[in-house]
Amino acid sequence: MERLLASPAFAPELRVPQDQYEARLAACEACPKFQGGTTCMLCGCLVPVIAYLKSKNCPYPGLDRWAAAAPT
Ligand code: SF4
Repeated sequence: MERLLASPAFAPELRVPQDQYEARLAACEACPKFQGGTTCMLCGCLVPVIAYLKSKNCPYPGLDRWAAAAPT
């Protein structure tokens, strides 16, 4: 994972702030679509990786659980 995070796709300007990243992870941990401590069953994504990216959204139907959990 560290090699992946060092790639240009995860450049610092493409990442959310650390508190927002942690809020996203917490939202996933409370979500019924989160499986195995790593995977979103709706998008098939590895949450600890994609939650870093500003460009990604939660795919939960009718409710972006990441947005709802965003720090203020
Ligand atoms: S639906 Fe959203 S909150 Fe649920 S596991 Fe997927 S990304 Fe996380």
